[in-house]
Amino acid sequence: MKKKQFFLFLLLVTAFFGFYFLGKNNFFPVNLKLFTPQKIAQTYPTGTPTPTPTPKPLTFAEMNSLYGPCVRVPVLMYHHVQDMEVAVGKNQAALTVDTDTFRQQMQYLKDQGYRSVYASDVLNFFDQGTPIPAKSVLLTFDDGYDDFAANAAPVLREFGFVSTLFVSTGLVDNPGYLSWNTIAYLTAKGDVLFANHTWSHRNVGANRADVEREITTADNQLAERGLNSPKLFAYPYGLGSSWGKEILEGLGYKLAFTTRPGSTLCEKQRLELPRARVGNSSLETYGL
Ligand SMILES: [Zn+2]
Repeated sequence: MKKKQFFLFLLLVTAFFGFYFLGKNNFFPVNLKLFTPQKIAQTYPTGTPTPTPTPKPLTFAEMNSLYGPCVRVPVLMYHHVQDMEVAVGKNQAALTVDTDTFRQQMQYLKDQGYRSVYASDVLNFFDQGTPIPAKSVLLTFDDGYDDFAANAAPVLREFGFVSTLFVSTGLVDNPGYLSWNTIAYLTAKGDVLFANHTWSHRNVGANRADVEREITTADNQLAERGLNSPKLFAYPYGLGSSWGKEILEGLGYKLAFTTRPGSTLCEKQRLELPRARVGNSSLETYGL
């Protein structure tokens, strides 16, 4: 019996010292700290390092929280629409989408279930929250070439697509460009919206006074004909200066398109919206 009690005593003593030393480790905070998640996070870098210095494009959700509200609308930019043979003869191939290719592109949009919106619909989304349905596309044509009326407009009408034209008003009525009469005719048809692209197709990288005069002159010429209300703009050659946006803001402009790629249109970027220049490839290659 005594032997049994002794062993029990020995067991208790061992257990006591065992727990004591085990517990003693807990008195060394250094040891503990080594295993806290914070310490691990500090010691080991989390996430995968970026293989190249190219910044990762922001997701829609990230853009929405930074610059929103945002809407996903691909904005396609066209210039000439004409037969490529004619374009080559006029040295306009680089800015031309062949008429047959253009028709195939519009057919593709229709087959994929796209509908078209005006640039002013984007403004209504920003200002009034008017929703833009999914699978909307914005078709824009720059400079005001006369082949728009001859080649693009009939195809657009056939597919029931609306468009927004950015015209350089000083070029109107010149050979190769739309006339004010044709602009009035297209406006009356109700499926083309005309907007500002400066007076002489001037880069906004020019000096401030010149740019202001260019935009104001075009603004007045459009307003005289009841056009460009609300005020919409597309930068010739893209956004080439830090003052381009300031000038537009001062003149009451509500939206402006650059040549920056992307299809997420955000309210806080309303004067530097992205646009994709379309060539003669399938629209599938532009992510549509
Ligand atoms: Zn242009």
